[in-house]
Amino acid sequence: MIICKKFLVLLIILLVLFFVFLTPVFAQESGEKAKVVQLSSNIYRVTFPYQLQTNIGVSAGKDGILLVDTGFKETAMELKATVQGLCKGKIKYVINTHLHGDHVGGNVVCAKNATLINGHNLDQCMSYGVIFPGNGELEGEAGNGFDTYYSLNFNGEKIQIIPYPGVHSDTDLIVYFSSSGVAHMGDLLLTQSFPAVGSKVKEYLKFLNKVITVFPKDTKFIGGHGHDFTLDEVKQYRQILLTTIEKVRAEMEKGKTIEDMKKSNMLEEWESWGEFLSFLNTDYWIESIYKSYHTS
Ligand SMILES: [Zn+2]
Ligand SMILES: [Zn+2]
Repeated sequence: MIICKKFLVLLIILLVLFFVFLTPVFAQESGEKAKVVQLSSNIYRVTFPYQLQTNIGVSAGKDGILLVDTGFKETAMELKATVQGLCKGKIKYVINTHLHGDHVGGNVVCAKNATLINGHNLDQCMSYGVIFPGNGELEGEAGNGFDTYYSLNFNGEKIQIIPYPGVHSDTDLIVYFSSSGVAHMGDLLLTQSFPAVGSKVKEYLKFLNKVITVFPKDTKFIGGHGHDFTLDEVKQYRQILLTTIEKVRAEMEKGKTIEDMKKSNMLEEWESWGEFLSFLNTDYWIESIYKSYHTS
């Protein structure tokens, strides 16, 4: 009996310790609930409202589930449970917009029994009959379209996969749900930050120009991080970039250095953009523009 009492006391102490010390860790790991936004009858965006807030695209319907990116490993179990609540089927495909950790971390859980498609294995997937050649529907005006793309039929619509490597990373691709009119842009579009393109600002503008000419007016754009954009908002975003580029280039003409421009806080008006993804702040953008346009 005494042993039993001692055991009970020990058990209670252990339980108290568990809840006092471990609960905050669990709470921090699972965080707030995933935010689910429905963008068409079968397309959703799932975002965890903390860390880098990676946007995950979901097609859920009669064929099952297709994911565009999987976010971080820490949120993978919750992501799986969330998307499986949207329809009865299993996760059949995972398409990664690129291979950065904040987009592929959840693959370990979510792509375990799914076909994985990314910028490295498109041709391989085509040879296995998983994806098919596209037929040029996304041509922009005056030949300003995207050169090649691949497509996949799922949940009653054609999903077009458009590779665009070399500006943000070497594996970037856009996933376009053509009937729903939803394009997941991965980190090729960061709607609340300056673009993560380093010294490839000119190349990025060329890319945005293509996007603006190619996609229909009513397209909904999911960025890698940040809220969704309409095509008009993509145009406004490009305009802000052009304005800031013009400002920096004008100072460069006067012989100002990167440090001079950072000190003068010349892009103060857009300082709040650095609050969302802190490394993509105005100082970063000044440096990017300088390195992109500087000729020695
Ligand atoms: Zn990235
Ligand atoms: Zn990212």
